[in-house]
Amino acid sequence: MANLLWLQGGACSGNTMSFLNAEEPSACDLVTDFGINVLWHPSLGVELGDNVKKILLDCISGKIALDIFVFEGTVVTAPNGTGEWNRFAGRAMQDWVRELSKAATYVVAVGDCATWGGIPATAPNPSESRGMQFLKREKGGFLGDGFKSKSGLPVVNIPGCPAHPDWITQIVVAIATGRGADIAVDEFHRPKTFFQSFTQTGCTRNMHFAYKVSATEFGQRKGCLFYDLGCRGPMTHSPCNRILWNRQSSKTRAGMPCLGCTEPEFPFFDLAPGTVFKTQTVMGVPKDLPLGVDKKGYIALTGAAKNAAPAWAEQDLFVV
Ligand code: SF4
Ligand code: SF4
Repeated sequence: MANLLWLQGGACSGNTMSFLNAEEPSACDLVTDFGINVLWHPSLGVELGDNVKKILLDCISGKIALDIFVFEGTVVTAPNGTGEWNRFAGRAMQDWVRELSKAATYVVAVGDCATWGGIPATAPNPSESRGMQFLKREKGGFLGDGFKSKSGLPVVNIPGCPAHPDWITQIVVAIATGRGADIAVDEFHRPKTFFQSFTQTGCTRNMHFAYKVSATEFGQRKGCLFYDLGCRGPMTHSPCNRILWNRQSSKTRAGMPCLGCTEPEFPFFDLAPGTVFKTQTVMGVPKDLPLGVDKKGYIALTGAAKNAAPAWAEQDLFVV
């Protein structure tokens, strides 16, 4: 049996909603098949008031073994580092986070807000929000760069806005079934099993990317969303086209550009009107190129691809 506690800081509950939609395995499977005991969760916990506080204090004192501490949302440290803008069970949430993280065997951050600060930590960041161990790309975050949970792992970061439900439940199951030591993380503490490949891996529009056939409108069934609509699929580490959403789709399959939500910089650019869904270019070359491709290589590659494009590359992907 593994005890799991889930708390929320500066959050919209999106990752909780995602988690409750998990299918492989589902949130119920965690309890019935994998022996996970959910000590408390903001949407599932039945205890209120002092009874919640008692659970938290018992975890901190060691009376209850805290195997997995999951945190969703930013650590709000305003005003002036006190964290008083986000109080929970009688004190600043940041104080619970610090003490529970020390007591837990594994600490898991779900969603962009908990991992790197996400939208709340975007300038001017009035809530002085931090991710658990990062602030955007900068190491440290709320717990500090050197933090390691009792397991020896740093905070395991499962980013996304929201994180895919199965990324969450599969990591929790790995821990609960004694395979936590197998979790290999990248430089941003993301489990490599999910975040080593790009959104582009498995994208049905790859042939359009290769031949530089561009989609010019949302929802268009042919064409790649990179050249005009700002798709970040080639630069974003995520398995969204390998582990599909609702088992059947992804943003790019539905004709919506990837926004790069699993990377620390999300949301990208200055968010001025017209910048998000438009590929930013300098002299016709996208400002952000697929990882490992330089400007010269891009010009040579796309020029040749455009000329070599066969007629079928222009065809509709889906024949109904
Ligand atoms: S750029 Fe986007 S739409 Fe184009 S192939 Fe890559 S992931 Fe798919
Ligand atoms: S497709 Fe891109 S923006 Fe959408 S969830 Fe995946 S990584 Fe995030």
